[in-house]
Amino acid sequence: MIDSYRHKGLRKKLVDTILIKGIKDQGVIEAIGKVPRHHFMDSSFVEFAYRDQAFPIGAGQTISQPYTVAFQTELLQIKKHHKILEVGTGSGYQCAILLELGAKVYTIERQRELFLKSRALLTEMGYKPYFYYGDGYKGISNNAPFDKILITAGAPEIPSELLKQLKIGGRMVVPVGGSNGQVMMTIDKVAENEYNESEHGYFSFVPMLKGKQ
Ligand code: SAH
Repeated sequence: MIDSYRHKGLRKKLVDTILIKGIKDQGVIEAIGKVPRHHFMDSSFVEFAYRDQAFPIGAGQTISQPYTVAFQTELLQIKKHHKILEVGTGSGYQCAILLELGAKVYTIERQRELFLKSRALLTEMGYKPYFYYGDGYKGISNNAPFDKILITAGAPEIPSELLKQLKIGGRMVVPVGGSNGQVMMTIDKVAENEYNESEHGYFSFVPMLKGKQ
């Protein structure tokens, strides 16, 4: 797997782009500067890896736009050793960013093809999250509670089972809405059954679907 000077140069430009778009968290910026996004792209789009855009990755899914990855990661306010549940492994790119920040990541994907592909890739790259094939709506109850929960697909509503798997003092980041777009929301669990919600602008994700395939 080659990470050339050209790739590094393009990645630096991508970092400049997300800085201009308003990302401030130093750890997030460093992670975007470090993770070779071209390894996570479908071969037909690999030359566009450092454009700030989403691209198809197979199975009708997409690798998220780098700015969106940075924005969601910034909202998570990750500290080293935080235990994070990521719903929607997809390409594995967002997972690699979380791992670069020193988090312990549990990532779940409902599409078998993507689960197998991203598990093989991340392992080859030396990343060590805990991989799960299943329905993210159910979470991973035997590893709960989590410090943070990140949902990388558009949820029609806030997934209530997952709120139960969040620590008190923890935060969920989730795009909520239908096929016309979603509002990025943070939900802070302040006490058992007590939550503070806030909204952070509009985004467009592939849908969060029930069951596995
Ligand atoms: N984090 C990914 C984004 C992939 S797009 C990346 O960095 O590339 C969203 C992913 O969520 C898709 O792969 C889709 O299959 C997956 N997904 C949708 N609903 C899900 C569910 N209920 N459980 C687990 N994964 C889900």
